[in-house]
Amino acid sequence: MSTETQTPIRIGLVGIGKIARDQHAPTLAADSGFVLTATASPHGRLLDIPAYPTLEAMLDAHPEMDAVALCTPPQVRHGLAHSALLRGKHVFLEKPPGATLSEVEDLAATAARVNKTLFASWHSRFAPAVEPARAWLSERRIVRARIVWRENVRVWHPGQDWIWRPGGLGVFDPGINALSIATALLPKPFFLTEATLDFPENRQAPIAATLLFSGSDLIPITAEFDWRETGPQIWDIEIETDDGRLRLSDGGAVATVHGEGGAKGQVLVAGVGQEYAGLYRRFAGLIALGTSEVDLSPLRHVADAFLLGARRLTDAFIEA
Ligand code: NAP
Repeated sequence: MSTETQTPIRIGLVGIGKIARDQHAPTLAADSGFVLTATASPHGRLLDIPAYPTLEAMLDAHPEMDAVALCTPPQVRHGLAHSALLRGKHVFLEKPPGATLSEVEDLAATAARVNKTLFASWHSRFAPAVEPARAWLSERRIVRARIVWRENVRVWHPGQDWIWRPGGLGVFDPGINALSIATALLPKPFFLTEATLDFPENRQAPIAATLLFSGSDLIPITAEFDWRETGPQIWDIEIETDDGRLRLSDGGAVATVHGEGGAKGQVLVAGVGQEYAGLYRRFAGLIALGTSEVDLSPLRHVADAFLLGARRLTDAFIEA
């Protein structure tokens, strides 16, 4: 085994908004595998880090940079990622990896052509209870699954106009996190059979959605996404098996098993945070291996919902 110390990856953060400040910057500061070299954002900046208004200006000033992490809204991500790849940088994409399936496929092809790493990250898959839950489920036969993701948009997305515009995904912005977990947990592929999307009459993206999926083994999977929840916030996935029921709660932080083979209400795992530390470890690993990771399945389910879903108009959403 080599004892050689790896040179840290020099990285630029693009799009200094909520997630860049809350997760990317502190995670990079704590990870000796990376050095945060500079940021690019029209207005946002981080204390003591060189800041530029655009990606191009940042890359011109720092030709030594190895990689960029894109934390912008999805609508502008393809152009930024494409430029960064063509300038020889590895690229980490926040979720969702783009505004359309085709543009992300184009990025994957570009990354392969220029021999750089493209990582389409799904942070919820790195929540602490997801892998233990997957292992528990892999020994059982799944009978049905129910996803409930209900939160208050005013609390979690204040002032984020982009989220209501075409390509912003609306309630699917958090809902896609649930789908990223479900596509990692359930052992067989599944597909949408029915959906209803509720659009505020003054917005271009849904505030609520109900989805029904089926799969090759015909197990029913339901999902309920709602942004109007002012009571307790719920990010739960409940999976019924032939040997007990598993509940993944708090967005994948806690897994509890109930019934038959297991003790009643036994907590399998209850963890906190660390999703972004795991994401950056994966990104560094992919760069070291010279490979990419681009799983489009969560975004494909969302695209299917926009294709197949019945649309209903609902009350206007006024933020103030
Ligand atoms: P946000 O607070 O609105 O931040 C996005 C930032 O992107 C804005 O502040 C804006 O910077 C910047 N930006 C816009 N266009 C740009 C461009 N062309 N070049 C460089 N920067 C640009 O949004 P967010 O909540 O951080 O979410 C960003 C992405 O992360 C979304 O895809 C979201 O789904 C994902 N995400 C968010 C969370 C969360 O908890 N918020 C969690 C996980 C993932 P200026 O302010 O400088 O104009």
